[in-house]
Amino acid sequence: MAQDYYATLGVRRDASQEEIKKAYRRLARALHPDVNPDPETQERFKEVTQAYEVLSDASKRQMYDLGGDPFSSGAGAGAGGFGAGFPFSDIMDAFFGGSGGSRGPRSRARRGRNATIRVELDLAESGFGTTRELVVDTAVLCEVCQGSGAAAGTHPDTCDMCHGRGEVSQVTRSFLGQVMTSRPCPQCGGFGSVIRHPCMECSGEGRVRTRRTIKVRIPAGVEDGTHIQLAGEGEVGPGGGPAGDLFLEIVERPHQIFERRGDDLHCTVQIPMTAAALGTSLTVETLDGAQEIDVRPGTQAGQVIPLYGRGVQRLNETGRGDLLIHVTVETPTKLDPQQEELLRELSKLRGEERPPGKFTPGQQGFFSRLRDAFNGR
Ligand SMILES: [Zn+2]
Ligand SMILES: [Zn+2]
Repeated sequence: MAQDYYATLGVRRDASQEEIKKAYRRLARALHPDVNPDPETQERFKEVTQAYEVLSDASKRQMYDLGGDPFSSGAGAGAGGFGAGFPFSDIMDAFFGGSGGSRGPRSRARRGRNATIRVELDLAESGFGTTRELVVDTAVLCEVCQGSGAAAGTHPDTCDMCHGRGEVSQVTRSFLGQVMTSRPCPQCGGFGSVIRHPCMECSGEGRVRTRRTIKVRIPAGVEDGTHIQLAGEGEVGPGGGPAGDLFLEIVERPHQIFERRGDDLHCTVQIPMTAAALGTSLTVETLDGAQEIDVRPGTQAGQVIPLYGRGVQRLNETGRGDLLIHVTVETPTKLDPQQEELLRELSKLRGEERPPGKFTPGQQGFFSRLRDAFNGR
């Protein structure tokens, strides 16, 4: 026992387990033969690993502190001699950051997958909410074995290769001496048990494929692209594992008249030039049915007539958006001689035979017209 294990790891004699582990990981990363294959480094790596093997084990560390030889036979849990209890998982930790804890057998039960289905809705359905019956292809718990996967009256047997541990260990010789490695048991796939008589219904999977009809309530105000999560309505997992979630993806069918922007609806109505000048009343369609609106005398092309509260329901809120009616003015194209005569007369009366044309400030874009509508222009 020539080396001072504390000095080798560069820790104080009262260092905590965590400090020792940290120091070891740092050194192992720098000294590992894969990184630094020269013989001197390998020798140093061996020393560091040996120091760690002693100091990371409470009983070996105590024996070492008392001046004993932790590698003499009967010491600790190992079968004696360096390497029998080699902390292989700690090396793996140093490189891969794994937990390094004992793995033990895996559970057969795993969480089921999530599923997504698309739901096409009309504007009225997404705007006001609806109830839908959906047919989903999914997996449900096997009623026969209740998820265990074993045939009626039988149980999974403890695996005789790994004795229920789910992993098998192997000791190999290497430059470090003996190295113990573990891998999932090939016979039971790491479960620790073997189903000798699988359930006939589900072939041992613990779940069966089926087609299920579910009734879902779609809240008012969802829109194209909204996802609705239905917890636990996805597939049941293998081995009786919990179900995943079902997601509904809303696809909103375009409406013939209305264009939706958030909670507001937009539409366009065209009125004749004379109606725009003289004013009129119009019957327009809304989601709530036909409604009469006033078009004031002197209405300009592009003006917006708002119908407050005639948009769609706000999602998870009270109140509704607005319906915004964009007015376009139709200029007559085919005039008979009498109409043309009348228009010429009107133009003369208004002194508009040779209008100068006026530039309007900036581009009268969609949103500025919208603002005008709200300002009551
Ligand atoms: Zn079954
Ligand atoms: Zn096994």
